[in-house]
Amino acid sequence: MMFIRDNHLHTHHSYDSDANFTDYLTHFDGEIVTTEHYDLSNPYTKQDDVPDYESYSHEVEKLNLKYGNRIKRGIEIGYYQPRESDILDFLDGKDYDLKLLSVHHNGVNDYLDDEVAEMDKANIIQEYLDKLEYAVGRVDADVLAHFDYGFRLFDVTVDELKAYENQLKRIFKKMIANDLAFELNSKSMYLYHHEGLYRYVLALVKDLGCRKYSIGSDGHKLEHFRLNFDKIQELLREFEITEDMII
Ligand SMILES: [Zn+2]
Ligand SMILES: [Zn+2]
Repeated sequence: MMFIRDNHLHTHHSYDSDANFTDYLTHFDGEIVTTEHYDLSNPYTKQDDVPDYESYSHEVEKLNLKYGNRIKRGIEIGYYQPRESDILDFLDGKDYDLKLLSVHHNGVNDYLDDEVAEMDKANIIQEYLDKLEYAVGRVDADVLAHFDYGFRLFDVTVDELKAYENQLKRIFKKMIANDLAFELNSKSMYLYHHEGLYRYVLALVKDLGCRKYSIGSDGHKLEHFRLNFDKIQELLREFEITEDMII
């Protein structure tokens, strides 16, 4: 069985998590990497949510002495075009082991806001995919996170998503050209019931020649750490995604 690191994980360094590194470290023997939320102009909190680089690095360093260097440092960059120069300034000179690229909001709503669920599904999907397409390549990152974040709140069938196939292909071509890994987000797949969409898109990205994949739970608490990674292992076998393709 191949070893897969959970490449999408949050702690109290993220605005929406209370988890401690030790919650994960004491329930798992392998390496962990946390990808803390960096979301400017966050409409959900009405502020800039920025993980404190100094205190984050300091805590990781301290725990690495105790836990055998099992912690890597990461960030989840919430791309928001009007703040692009601030994002680039923040990242400049900082050293992360793993950087996720995400689009979480449109300046008015985070795509998980209750109100969004009442909005027109097709409009939201289109708006979100446009933002995602633009975001890819604008900042340096390793992984394109949760391609479906913008429509997590919706039941979307594979046929419905197929209407966006040309654009999805453009996004994933751009992802590959920018050397980003495609993320299998187990929270999207199993808590938001988007496994079918991931299967459809996985066939697309494979077809486009993607050789880089990342597996993440998007856990904000122990309960979701490495969520359904056994199922994901099966899926990887089914799609012939081998260990050398997983970052
Ligand atoms: Zn996210
Ligand atoms: Zn996340």
